[in-house]
Amino acid sequence: MGKHRIAAIPGDGIGKEVIAAGEEVLTALAKRTAGLDLSFTSFPWGSDHYMAHGRMMPEGATDELKTFDAIYFGSAGDPRVPDHISLWQLRLAICQGFDQYANIRPTRVLPGLKSPLANVTAKDIDWLIVRENSEGEYSGAGGRVHQKLPLDVGLDVSIITREGARRILKFALDEARKRPRKTLTFVTKSNAQRHAMVLWDEVFDEVKAAYPDIKTDRMLVDAMAARFVTDPASIDTVVATNLHADILSDLAAALAGGLGIAPTGNVNPERVFPSMFEPIHGSAFDIMGRGIANPLGSFWSAVLMLDHLGEPDAGARLMRAIETVTREGRVLTRDLGGQSTTAEVTRTVIAALD
Ligand code: NAD
Ligand code: MN
Repeated sequence: MGKHRIAAIPGDGIGKEVIAAGEEVLTALAKRTAGLDLSFTSFPWGSDHYMAHGRMMPEGATDELKTFDAIYFGSAGDPRVPDHISLWQLRLAICQGFDQYANIRPTRVLPGLKSPLANVTAKDIDWLIVRENSEGEYSGAGGRVHQKLPLDVGLDVSIITREGARRILKFALDEARKRPRKTLTFVTKSNAQRHAMVLWDEVFDEVKAAYPDIKTDRMLVDAMAARFVTDPASIDTVVATNLHADILSDLAAALAGGLGIAPTGNVNPERVFPSMFEPIHGSAFDIMGRGIANPLGSFWSAVLMLDHLGEPDAGARLMRAIETVTREGRVLTRDLGGQSTTAEVTRTVIAALD
């Protein structure tokens, strides 16, 4: 129990709506929890800042962020700014600058909600996807040559380092060990990508030797995508490279009831830097500004943040409140088949804290 300083970066689109809702819920939770003290400092960075100043966040922004205990992030992405700029200058700048190499994505079907898969119920889906979050296909290495000429060429180089692979694979095995089934599926594509992915495989074989208690299996990413649909109950913890896990985790979120609910944490396991927690969805241009965004993904992300801050009891209390609201099913946003607004869901979750 203690005092935690949180930097809130709502960012763009519905990020602003769901992070405001999340702050409201967390403030209400702290008020009800003896000894839990959360302070929020909000940073107005994102595409508005870009339009005014030509960059998504000011110079020295990460130095300022470094002093916080955690970062609570909304979304980066706006129709006025090219996506690769909004993503790289804000979210990826923080993830990479703070060496948040472990991206965790828990996926469950919450009580009362339905998977779009026929005959699949809550007991069949309880996954933890661990995504390599610092290199691989999103290393940023590459370039453009002959731009706008007929010879125009673009190159994105996927980089796997031995140490980068070792630390994320060890992290994933440690996470698998904390879960009841002690099972980890290792995802690769070393049949087609014969350099970096083969190194990825080799390092897995080395690291897993120290985890004889963990049951592991190996899947090619394309077959893994199919397995999420055809045999969801066989899956527990999954580890994959940056791009592969990015795609698999959106698939997983959809199979568990939708993007509006899914949470994630960008974790620096050594705690040299603050970690960052966010709903996995983006700015949702089609519904932004209308007050109808589902805030449950940002609330569940706050649960991950509380766990990371060493407040698992407060996190569990918030999770129970979220589950009470989905189980009752009376106050849900449109993406979950309801009619309620962001504000109504927020109020109902706060009431369910008691
Ligand atoms: P998106 O997640 O913004 O939207 C996809 C669909 O899901 C939309 O129909 C949207 O209305 C719906 N949706 C998403 N979250 C919802 C919520 N909380 N409640 C109700 N409905 C919800 O993905 P997109 O359309 O591919 O991307 C839009 C912008 O967001 C782009 O600029 C993209 O780059 C950015 N983006 C940012 C992040 C991030 O910052 N982490 C993640 C994904 C996309
Ligand atoms: Mn994604």
